[in-house]
Amino acid sequence: MQEILSQLVELQRMDTRIAEIESVITDMPQQIKALNEKLEKAKKGHDAIQSALHENKKAYTSLEAALSEKKDLLVNSQKKLTSVQNNKEYESVLRELDALKKSVSDGDAQLKDMTALNFKYESEYASINELTENLSKQLDELKNHKVDEDKELQEELAALKAKREEFASGMKKSVVSKYDRVRAHRNNIGVAAVEDEVCDGCYMRIPPQLYVDVKKDKSIYSCPHCQRILYYVKKEEEA
Ligand SMILES: [Zn+2]
Repeated sequence: MQEILSQLVELQRMDTRIAEIESVITDMPQQIKALNEKLEKAKKGHDAIQSALHENKKAYTSLEAALSEKKDLLVNSQKKLTSVQNNKEYESVLRELDALKKSVSDGDAQLKDMTALNFKYESEYASINELTENLSKQLDELKNHKVDEDKELQEELAALKAKREEFASGMKKSVVSKYDRVRAHRNNIGVAAVEDEVCDGCYMRIPPQLYVDVKKDKSIYSCPHCQRILYYVKKEEEA
């Protein structure tokens, strides 16, 4: 391969790594932001369930107290029934008894529902508590990691950029600027291998004569579709 082409391949390797590092550096704050949003949502859910659980327990206690009073009244009414003086009084106590019995049975059913609800809330509370703790731990880890990794990446990036500039300054200027121009418009890839008449940059077929020329490796050729500078890698049997 012509020296300028192997230099371009090396330059491309550095430019790809530079772009990779830059994307990691910009992605991380977004990851932190997304995790933070998740945590805030989980915390809200946590608080909502906690307060529902509290309200349910409070309502249970007050209903239980009211029910216990009604049960006492029921016992009294039953006693009254044995000492009534006349039919009218008897019927009145009986009505009172029926109403109390219904009220007590409704109350018992309500308590049962509340107990079931309490179980449901408690299990929801346990899961959301676990989720909140996990997210919070993940966020701390990511933040700590970010500080360390950012520093390392920034150092690697600065070193790589300096190396890249030095390397590029030793190359033929017109070729480097063509490569840079194409790279700016083609997803950071300015040079592409061609294999079996297909450009590796855009996966389109190039004209057969151009393929022959690229294989001959006497000049600099570009893909007619994506404009990337083309090079040919000799197959094992040719090498
Ligand atoms: Zn192409």
